[in-house]
Amino acid sequence: MGGRTTLLYSERFLDYNLGSLHPLRPVRVKLTHDLIQSKGLLDEDDIEIAAPRVASEEEILLFHEKEYVRLVQKYSEKGSGLLDAGDTPAFKGCFEATSLVVGASLEACDKIMSGKVSHVFNPSGGLHHAHPERASGFCIFNDPAISVNYLKTKYMIRRLVYMDIDAHHGDGVMYGYYSDPSLLDIDFHENGKYIFPGTGFPDEIGENEAKGLKLNIPLLPGTGDEAYLKAFHKLIPDIVRKFRPEIILVQCGADGHANDRLAHLRLTTNTYEEVVSEMHSLAHELCEGRFLLFGGGGYTLANVPRVWTVALATLAGKKLDDEIPERWSGEFRELTGEDPPNALRDRLTNDDSKTISEVDNVLEELAGYLAKWRP
Ligand SMILES: [Zn+2]
Ligand SMILES: [Zn+2]
Repeated sequence: MGGRTTLLYSERFLDYNLGSLHPLRPVRVKLTHDLIQSKGLLDEDDIEIAAPRVASEEEILLFHEKEYVRLVQKYSEKGSGLLDAGDTPAFKGCFEATSLVVGASLEACDKIMSGKVSHVFNPSGGLHHAHPERASGFCIFNDPAISVNYLKTKYMIRRLVYMDIDAHHGDGVMYGYYSDPSLLDIDFHENGKYIFPGTGFPDEIGENEAKGLKLNIPLLPGTGDEAYLKAFHKLIPDIVRKFRPEIILVQCGADGHANDRLAHLRLTTNTYEEVVSEMHSLAHELCEGRFLLFGGGGYTLANVPRVWTVALATLAGKKLDDEIPERWSGEFRELTGEDPPNALRDRLTNDDSKTISEVDNVLEELAGYLAKWRP
């Protein structure tokens, strides 16, 4: 499976900074870029790095309401205030910083649709909680949701798959397209009974013509690779093949990894590798390789760069050894004051039977809905 791969990166991604005490640490994106570089991926002939562009206001309005965009601009100039009930503080220049994140995702769409590259990764993107009229959960503008409408309007794409493997439900994207039959939205997340934003249950299947096209797979805290991959393999390849997308978008939040500071799943890099690998195969099988990968959550700094480096390597079809380069470890210590990880991939953690049997229950409930769905 061929296809060129692009990593979008700019040091200006670090401007998306909600404050020094905020759990979302922009340095994770720099550490990801630097680990990708130090593992030699950017020296490969078929992997390139490119700079993002800034989204225009017109583009942001593809998903967001004008009044809300005005509010972000106003707070951005002022440099203070809260953009939601408390999780998402405004900061000086937040409008520009979040417009760059959106612009990177739109640049990814343009690159893929030009046919020059097949796969693009925007590690700053995946801000899936923002709603048309408000910020939410650290997300000011919803770059995946804007990308969906951008692909629909600029490139006349009629069938898209958006898969979200962040530990939190991608509510902004799902509700934003809840009655839109052009988007098959698949969302694996920690069960909303235990974690923000408290939504994403199996009975939320979409409405009107989109009934059966929104799939929610809630997982118990403690869910590991075995239960997760069981649900993934049982459901996803089959549904995606039936839907026949023209492009695949994956939000690859790294907060589903074990020991995340805000979430409670227990995935290892193995799950990320397997999910990205399967979606990559499906993209080549069904849509000429068109695959846009977003970042997302991820609050334990020793995990995020590893998860996303493995994801990018998988997308580009490269095998990496598990060594963490010493220079990168030194930089990690310096920038975070924490101990660096000692291997790129994790060894497998053990699942418990409770999370596996809960996944079986969810699969059974979903099978009931899917039986009624005519793809
Ligand atoms: Zn490929
Ligand atoms: Zn998350």
